[in-house]
Amino acid sequence: MHLARFPRRFIAHLPTPLERLDRLSKELGGPEIWIKRDDCTGLSTGGNKTRKLEFLMAEAELEGADMVITQGATQSNHARQTAAFAAKLGIPCHILLEDRTGSDNANYNTNGNVLLDHLHGATTEILPGGTDMAAEMEAVAEKMRADGKTVYIIPGGGSNPTGALGYVNCAFELLGQVNNSNLKIDHIVHATGSAGTQAGLITGLKAINANISLLGIGVRAPKALQEENVYKLALATAEKLGCPGIVQREDVVANTDYVGEGYGIPTQSGIEAIRMFAELEGILLDPVYSAKGAAGLIDLIRKGVFSKDERIVFIHTGGSVALFGYDSVFDFSHLRGAS
Ligand SMILES: *Cc1c(COP(=O)(O)O)cnc(C)c1O
Repeated sequence: MHLARFPRRFIAHLPTPLERLDRLSKELGGPEIWIKRDDCTGLSTGGNKTRKLEFLMAEAELEGADMVITQGATQSNHARQTAAFAAKLGIPCHILLEDRTGSDNANYNTNGNVLLDHLHGATTEILPGGTDMAAEMEAVAEKMRADGKTVYIIPGGGSNPTGALGYVNCAFELLGQVNNSNLKIDHIVHATGSAGTQAGLITGLKAINANISLLGIGVRAPKALQEENVYKLALATAEKLGCPGIVQREDVVANTDYVGEGYGIPTQSGIEAIRMFAELEGILLDPVYSAKGAAGLIDLIRKGVFSKDERIVFIHTGGSVALFGYDSVFDFSHLRGAS
């Protein structure tokens, strides 16, 4: 499998570091936990979408796009990284933001990722929760095409076979790191949403016959739907790579027990995970994705699902900028004025 056959615009800071989390591992008393720092991909504070956008934006450039459109939730990390990538390439960017949470919090609606979308010069429009965002993007693109623009549409989360190539590459990169340091790993855990990250990872892992279990912790859809979305995208990604049939349905495993009330609504276990990573390891998670992924990791360790002699890699998919849109969920009264 040869990824250099696909157009790619190199921007991400790769390889991302692979680090051992000594204090968190000790606190939980379970397996040895490592973290793959995809929050450190470099572009506009980083995150997992940058890997996907390397392949997507290369395609946009090849097609001569003079407008890039994408969509996401109000605090979308994907939107922010797309806005930054487009700025770097000098392509105007328009973002449709779906108000999935209905929050009237000022920071949620204007700070964090939204602030950075605008700093990178992207135009935004807000649509009500439940809107068919893919159809809306098509409608907006049609209007722009009628005005003579060459529009490149990036699906939510950058999750199509082109974007998933970024995570096929991440699987290769991670295996290179652990093989070169003789680090035997047993499980990979990460947050899964629009499915491109997990679909790319499983396709890459199967392609090199890594035989390492992959677990996606869901942030939105119920288990059956999440797994189906990942599986379908993995099939299409394998097809694109010229190795159809390498991914089986049972390779795709999602645990959706940590979604809580819904997408973008913080959970107690997620807030605990944010505080543990921040206080024990100096690492920032985000309430929408990586905190729910970490909450799953922590809970499954506490339940003994992963044993003491195993080694786990948690892929940190980024998102900490959203903390500035969610500051109201934290209570620091015990820290203020204390000594
Ligand atoms: C988008 C995102 C995810 C989920 O990745 P998908 O490819 O959409 O499944 C996880 N974490 C963060 C921080 C994200 O922004």
